Order: sequence, then structure tokens, then C-alpha cells
Amino acid sequence: MGLKIGYHVSIAKSMDLAFDRAEALGCTAMQIFITNPRGWADRRLANDEKERFIEKQERTRIEVVAHMPYLPNIASSNSIIFKKSVNALKENLAKCNDLGIRYLVAHMGSHMGHGRKKGLDNIVEAISMAEQYMGSTKLLLENESGHINAVGADIDDLSYVYGKADSKKLGFCMDTCHLYAAGYDITRRSVLDTIDRKLGWDKVHAIHLNDSKKPLGSRLDRHDNIGYGHIGIDGFRKFLSYDKVTSKPLILETPSRQGLADDKELRDIKRIYESLS
Ligand SMILES: [Zn+2]
Ligand SMILES: [Zn+2]
Repeated sequence: MGLKIGYHVSIAKSMDLAFDRAEALGCTAMQIFITNPRGWADRRLANDEKERFIEKQERTRIEVVAHMPYLPNIASSNSIIFKKSVNALKENLAKCNDLGIRYLVAHMGSHMGHGRKKGLDNIVEAISMAEQYMGSTKLLLENESGHINAVGADIDDLSYVYGKADSKKLGFCMDTCHLYAAGYDITRRSVLDTIDRKLGWDKVHAIHLNDSKKPLGSRLDRHDNIGYGHIGIDGFRKFLSYDKVTSKPLILETPSRQGLADDKELRDIKRIYESLS
């Protein structure tokens, strides 16, 4: 089995074109937004868009990971924001099911000053409210970098939500940049083992593979290109030599950089992986 790896790609013009973009880059996995990423409104599917999407998904066998838009915050104690966020979650889950997408990534969000425990309990409530929309899609909560008021930077936060939510359709997405910023040195096997003991890598169904512009424990979410940040190529080699992570879809959410070919990071990661096996 080869790596499932790819970029976050655009769905501009028609959702199915994401497959063409991903294929051109050599992706075997990809991440997309399925609703407007910067708004609350749903993005309606055009005629035949769904059919084309499903056809290309079957033909290319590219593993699709959907990502929630930026505005929803399921940790919020503001009842209006919370309600809108849960609605957006339901809408995204329903659409994933409609399109045959297995994974939806959602940020754990911000408690907005109401405290970490309140924020985590709000997430648990949001999950129970959206549960009936999950169908065959798994909801993957993404770990955070630990910026102010964020919940989910500590692995204990993830275990807490998993224990309370008691949903078989709940899983996690680990972002390497966020882990690093939150103080987890992912280049060390002992740290990866700690995550395994506290949460379990079997509950992690997707990985965001990003280097970090900021140092270990900075609590800042600044993605860098693979090999250009504090994790570095050697750090990713160590991370990928941990066999519990390489079976998951690996998604690059790195910035574009002048002089760096669009598929360079993907080729680098594939090369590292092949040199390990
Ligand atoms: Zn991410
Ligand atoms: Zn990030």
C-alpha cells in the first residue's frame, strides 16, 4: 500500500475539478471545502456536479477529506454562534454523505473566555446534536496550536471529548504544525508514544502535514513549507518512521512559495517514505 497523500485543493468552478487538480499534482488524497470557506451560506451544487464528483472519486480512488469552513465555532458559549455553528456542521455532514466523503475535519475552536472545560463541553453537545447527520461520514476534530482561548491543544482535551461524546463516528485529525506549536515534539518517538497512550493513533484518521514557522511550544499557528520550518526534513523523516501515522491520509496545508514547484513537497514526502521502507 502506497501513501495516501495530497494537498488541500480548490473546488473553484465545479467541485469535481478538484480531482483533476489533485491528479495533476500526483495526489492520492486531497482535502477540499464543500461549502463557502469564509461564509455561513451553503454552496449549492450545480446540475450534474454531484454525479461528476462521485464518478471521479470512484475512478481516481483519491481519498477525500472535507474541511469545515472557518467561521463556525462549536466550542462557543454564545448561543447564536453555537447554533449557527451546529447548523453548519449538520449541513457539512449531510453534504459529505451525499457526496460519499468519509471524513469531515472540524476545528475544535475557541471558548472565547468562558474557560476550557465549558468550551469542551460545548463541543460534546455539538457532536450529540449533529450525530444523526453523520451517516457514514466520520467527524474528525482537529487539534489546535494553543493560541489564546483555543481548546484542543492539549491531547487530554481530545481524550476528554472522546470519552464524553461516546460516538463511534467521532475521530481526530492531527496537524503536525499545531502539535509542534502546542509543545509536542513530533520528531521524538517517546512523544508519539505518549499521544498513543493518551488518545490512541487508531482514533486519528487524517493528518495535516505542515512544517512550523514558529518554534516548539510557541502556541502559534503558522504553517511553513515542508523542510523550511522548525520541524525540518529530518524531523519529518523521524515522524514518518513511526508506523502508526503512515496509513492515514496525509494532507499538506502549506503556503505557496516562490521558486517551489507545486508538487515538490509531495515528492519529498514520498521520497522520504520510500527510503524508509
Ligand atoms: Zn490543519
Ligand atoms: Zn493551522
